[in-house]
Amino acid sequence: MIYKFDQIIKTFMKPLKRHRNITLKRIVLDMYQFCRTQRLCTAFLGHPFQRSTKFIEIDITYRCNLRCFNCNRSCTQAPSRAELSPSQIQNFVSQSIATNMRWERIRLLGGEPTLHPDFFHIVDILLRYQSVYNPDARLVVCSNGHGRKVNAILSKLPSPVEIKTTIKTGNENLFRPFNLAPEDNLAYRFSDFSSGCRIIEDCGIGYTPQGYYICAVAGAIDRIFGFHMGRTSLPEKTDQMIDQREAFCPLCGHFGFRFPVKKTKMSPIWQKAYAGYHSRKNSYQPLKNRT
Ligand code: SF4
Ligand code: SF4
Repeated sequence: MIYKFDQIIKTFMKPLKRHRNITLKRIVLDMYQFCRTQRLCTAFLGHPFQRSTKFIEIDITYRCNLRCFNCNRSCTQAPSRAELSPSQIQNFVSQSIATNMRWERIRLLGGEPTLHPDFFHIVDILLRYQSVYNPDARLVVCSNGHGRKVNAILSKLPSPVEIKTTIKTGNENLFRPFNLAPEDNLAYRFSDFSSGCRIIEDCGIGYTPQGYYICAVAGAIDRIFGFHMGRTSLPEKTDQMIDQREAFCPLCGHFGFRFPVKKTKMSPIWQKAYAGYHSRKNSYQPLKNRT
């Protein structure tokens, strides 16, 4: 009997080991997140997640050499060459210095960041910022580590830059179903979307080609839905970006609890949004703006 139970547990855990970001601990945290973001909880306990002033993720490009299902930047569902230029990165650095934002960690992501045509120029700008103004800041390049070209670029990065590879190889990876909107699911009808999720504390705010967001995922959602809600300059430390949480979290598969999957999953709001994106006629309005 005990042997059978053990086998059942092992069978259950096996698929969860296919991606290092999908662990039992994270699934438990997701369940906690679902409970803690119920309106009743937030009414008594307040927002569980605060906007980060320590971490920032910069999506420098949406180019990618993979086409993973459920990509949370929509690189598969809606490929794009939108990217941040070196001068925009320089502006970010200047604003960080002017407003005394002392980042503890700056991550470069995408898409696959190494495929940005000015990748090394951008890295140089951030290295200069690190050496002159903020020696304690960690610079991290998050790469899928896939393919000869990407690995050749990674191998040329100077040592102050840390490399985090997610070692993706294609669609066999497990992902949270990013395109399942909580708003399409009755289980979330009592959720307080202004809570956000733990990504805003774990990963930090996002800087994307659409502007600054509560998280980089929100910027990617805005690229598809076209709300144009990105801040045009670095948000003040006191800006909790509640308006963005209310607009983007009802659409985001990272909100609350989702079991990781290997297949593409997409709820109706996202199907409509991608159709709108592709036809350049997006008619969707944020929840709060609908009549
Ligand atoms: S490697 Fe990352 S950015 Fe590229 S398609 Fe996969 S999940 Fe998206
Ligand atoms: S948009 Fe998604 S990732 Fe960002 S705070 Fe909301 S639920 Fe989390």
